Amino acid sequence: MVGILEDRDRIFTNLYGLHDFGLEGAQRRGAWNGVREILSQTPEWICDQIKASGLRGRGGGGGGFSTGLKWSLMPPPSGRPHYLVVNADESEPGACKDREILRNDPHLLIEGCLIAGYAIGAHAGYIYIRGEYVFERERLEAAIRQAYEARLIGKDNIHGWDFDLYVTHGGGAYICGDETALMESLEGKKGQPRLKPPFPAGAGIWGAPTTINNVETIAVVGNILRRGAQWFAGFGRPNNVGVKLMAGSGHVNRPGVVEETMGAPMRTLIDAHFGGVRGGWGNLKAVMPGGVSMAMIPADMAEEAVMDYDALRAMRSGLGTATMIVFDQEADLVAAVARIARFFKHESCGQCTPCREGTGWMWRVMERMATGEAEMAEIDLLLDVASQVEGHTICGLGDAAAWPIQGLFRHFRPEVEARILRYRARRTQVQGASLVAA
Ligand code: SF4
Repeated sequence: MVGILEDRDRIFTNLYGLHDFGLEGAQRRGAWNGVREILSQTPEWICDQIKASGLRGRGGGGGGFSTGLKWSLMPPPSGRPHYLVVNADESEPGACKDREILRNDPHLLIEGCLIAGYAIGAHAGYIYIRGEYVFERERLEAAIRQAYEARLIGKDNIHGWDFDLYVTHGGGAYICGDETALMESLEGKKGQPRLKPPFPAGAGIWGAPTTINNVETIAVVGNILRRGAQWFAGFGRPNNVGVKLMAGSGHVNRPGVVEETMGAPMRTLIDAHFGGVRGGWGNLKAVMPGGVSMAMIPADMAEEAVMDYDALRAMRSGLGTATMIVFDQEADLVAAVARIARFFKHESCGQCTPCREGTGWMWRVMERMATGEAEMAEIDLLLDVASQVEGHTICGLGDAAAWPIQGLFRHFRPEVEARILRYRARRTQVQGASLVAA
């Protein structure tokens, strides 16, 4: 069984690091080809092409906002500096796709930065990379040095658009992956999300108009413009087009990252690219389609699911970063969700009450659900609290904390109830035995 995307349509032809990550290798694979011609077009033309390609944000947050539209929301030049910021703070458990671009194909990202910078009128770009990605940062910085030395970027470069690119790294906080917290951190402040509006296009870093895009989003731009918007728009379903990096981890036989068409069936991905579910498809219990913030879907829905924004939203989950976490029948889903709840409680920045108090409260209740010590009535109470956290916070972390819990109870409530009943029966048995002994 093979996947769907043909080799000739792959953008990331060094995804597995089998070839040279540096400039020579990247140019052999087509990177930087035709960039001068692309930049001879107007910024409006580039924005229109990216809009026509149907490219939507690949970062997981924001529900896949149109990239071309985002770029065109930048104000016209007015003497104020414009900035491009690339979000490389890939920190969600399960998400591991941008890492492969950063370490194996960084020149695709750098050429995309130059093109995006030109399209939005920015002469400077910042790549904010996850602090733990040390190797990836070293590779990226080496590639940027090569691009400067070859005068592909920088002042008076061969492309005719002055553009400086800086790399800065985070300090380990998940919340700095939120675009406004990232901007705060980039400015040297504590990484806490800002209220919106104002949106970054109006007031971003240092109060100047800023566009923030994910690594993968920017890294595909050069290929879209070289091959044509219609080529990219030809994959997938309307409104859910293009090629996309997808990953499989957890209980699959061959975890990894792969490039596929949007709308690829979940089962095809798991079977063709990730070696199938441990113990066979019949042993599948649930899948989180895009990192731990997306609600899980059970096996029968996974059988029907396709990997795109709208299809997974219709299943009350989401594409997220398209990095699937697979659970087989042996998995303790309740313990897994309790562990995820602990992660979000730990990563809450504490600014808003529903998140600060709610994530800790939900984690503590989930821990008791995992052991079975919780009361039956606490299930509805937990879901009520989750619904009060969801949508009532400054940034998306509140939603991210609520969704895995809601997904668990939507599909596996009887499993949690059975655990509570078992615990209660055991306790009664022990108490009975103690009374007899006394
Ligand atoms: Fe901070 Fe949580 Fe509020 Fe986001 S939702 S701003 S992480 S407290």
